[in-house]
Amino acid sequence: MKHAPLKPGSDDHPQRIGVLLPLPLPGPYDYRAPEGESLPRGTLVAAPLGPRLSLGVVWGESDGSVADKKLKEVEPLGARLPERLCDFIDWVARYTLNPPGMVLALALRVRSAFDPESPRLGYTRGTETPKRLTPARARVLDIASDGLARSVPALAEEANVTPAVVRGLIEANALAATALPEFAPFACPDPAHDHVTLNADQQKAAAALCADVAAGAFSASLLDGVTGSGKTETYFEAVAEALRQDRQTLILLPEIALTVQFLDRFAQRFGCRPAEWHSDLSQKERRRVYRAVMKGEARVVVGARSALFLPFPSLGLIIVDEEHEQAYKQEDGVIYHARDMAVVRARIEECPVVLASATPSLETYVNASSGRYRWLKLAARHGAAVLPEIRLVDLRHAKSEPGTWISEPLREAIRNTLDANEQAMLFLNRRGYAPLTLCGGCGHKMICRNCSAWLVEHRYHRRLVCHHCGFEMPTPSACPECHEQGSLIACGPGVERVAEEFASVFPNARMAIASSDTLHGPQETQAAIRAMMKREIDVLIGTQIVAKGHHFPQLTLVGVIDADLGSSDGDVRARERTFQLLHQVAGRAGRAEKPGLVLVQTRNPDDGVMKAIAATDRNAFYEQERIYRERAHAPPFGRLAALILSGADGEAVRDTGRALAKAAPAARGLKVWGPTPAFYQLLRGRTRERLLVQAEKSVDVQAFLRAWLAAVKLPNGVRLTVDIDPVSFF
Ligand code: ADP
Ligand code: ZN
Repeated sequence: MKHAPLKPGSDDHPQRIGVLLPLPLPGPYDYRAPEGESLPRGTLVAAPLGPRLSLGVVWGESDGSVADKKLKEVEPLGARLPERLCDFIDWVARYTLNPPGMVLALALRVRSAFDPESPRLGYTRGTETPKRLTPARARVLDIASDGLARSVPALAEEANVTPAVVRGLIEANALAATALPEFAPFACPDPAHDHVTLNADQQKAAAALCADVAAGAFSASLLDGVTGSGKTETYFEAVAEALRQDRQTLILLPEIALTVQFLDRFAQRFGCRPAEWHSDLSQKERRRVYRAVMKGEARVVVGARSALFLPFPSLGLIIVDEEHEQAYKQEDGVIYHARDMAVVRARIEECPVVLASATPSLETYVNASSGRYRWLKLAARHGAAVLPEIRLVDLRHAKSEPGTWISEPLREAIRNTLDANEQAMLFLNRRGYAPLTLCGGCGHKMICRNCSAWLVEHRYHRRLVCHHCGFEMPTPSACPECHEQGSLIACGPGVERVAEEFASVFPNARMAIASSDTLHGPQETQAAIRAMMKREIDVLIGTQIVAKGHHFPQLTLVGVIDADLGSSDGDVRARERTFQLLHQVAGRAGRAEKPGLVLVQTRNPDDGVMKAIAATDRNAFYEQERIYRERAHAPPFGRLAALILSGADGEAVRDTGRALAKAAPAARGLKVWGPTPAFYQLLRGRTRERLLVQAEKSVDVQAFLRAWLAAVKLPNGVRLTVDIDPVSFF
């Protein structure tokens, strides 16, 4: 999109501009520029809005909706968002059907980033020499003589004196003040710092990516290889090329937990840590990173999905690691898929994007096999490591007592592993002790009062918890319905329960639980993972959090407690997700010299997903899945959009759903399903109804939705959320 440069105006003909505010408004508002100033698109301004000033961004021409006399004047803030970021924001707004101001808000998360810098004072050697020159004072002056400006605390620390000594020297003019920038600058990663010698596959892939970076044009590649095949080492070469080209790089990771390890790994390769961007940063750190990105000082940024909206002035490369991860989907507010939007941003920035994964999403797999994306394959694990052997344990036939979850074959394998002094991991994607608590007397189920979801027992903390809204209560001693004492029964296993069984069978083994849990918390999880790393424990029992990115050299056995979990969700991606998760868990075993064994407990050993896992035949799974999706006209062979209505008044929500369905215009190649109650009809106290739009690939779903939704007025208290390309169906 091109925007004509705006001409300066005068008092009679004020220079009108359209200013986008980070608010849910349909478009930019009209303002006037200060006399004689021309403000290009992207210029940050303070704009009067009611009684206050709002941060805003010059978006383009005004639409002329406000009379000249009523125009209010903006005040430029001396900073500017790159024009391509503005184009990206417009694109995301159109695609996701959000007001552009809401998308802009994602890019302006750090309001303080545009405040003027508050310089710190630094001191160097001044003109005077004090009469009384104690050894402490002499040390300070000696250090200050090198010409480098230091703050008072820095000088005091280096000279090992109290700050009072330094201040005395300042008063005596023996030290002179100069202004230091508010933040220390980011170190520039060194492309030649330290790198491994790539093997042939890696070299070929790296050369292709480096050529793309040097060409400075859009391209999309799938970097495809099993865990440990060197995907990271390979894309680091592309990062090095971007550094040599003086361009910035954005590396997206699905989770903060992975960022921490990644930073060290990066520092090994490039000599310093990259800038990081995620929700755990303090406001001050955010301000520092945001400004450094905007000025082009931060050369490489590693971050979670929101980093996609940072103001890079010269982006030369985007990497999306673990591109298949569901965590890339933002499910609140502006709903977007960071992987898909990364491809869009790369196209707008005219730079390469690299999607890396051992188990790509079917969408990406299809794009790669059809030639739309370049397919770079890394065939083998680097070095001696071989893929583990995978065996299915048919739970229908395996011997086990009722109420136990670790089958005899798995117990046997654990025994062997412990005897060999190696490590094992048991995996169950379910937090807590038991997913359902019910009364043995009357059958009453313990359900959340805000959500139509079971309360999950956390026995260690003696609480029942809702994993959706966070509601919790002490586990009652009697059934709340029939009041019978001691009648509540825990049904099914969570990780805590598997751990309990494990401890009773292997009382001498050292074990820890790792679960992403409000009750256990990230620190406890990190501690468990560290203990596993340092060989302080023999067995780690965990949820999907243990499936990702960790490298345990002594781990040779992985047991999957319930592989059937998740395949019965009835959504189009359930099979793919199960496959990816199991493949990833399996990839934890035998990463170093020792071969690994994976035992997968299932009741459906004949299912296609299970067979593909057992045969370690990844592409067989993808080919099955492709046919299945093609027949169902499911993505990527058709398009989906979900509409979710929610509100406190259930009747109003259901009425609105029916009215919405009735108002749907007829359209070719497109069907509207619903309304139906959502999977969780009640969530956080709000009733939820869903409609699903299913369309052929060629249909402009956004245009259809825009026309449809414009014709319907929502009653107060009923909220409509549009989810384009939904990945979860709750
Ligand atoms: P992936 O990202 O595919 O999981 P990594 O890039 O993390 O794989 O590589 C796995 C391990 O193997 C890392 O410790 C990495 O440093 C090492 N490695 C990969 N390729 C090479 C190589 N060519 N030479 C030496 N070590 C390598
Ligand atoms: Zn709840």
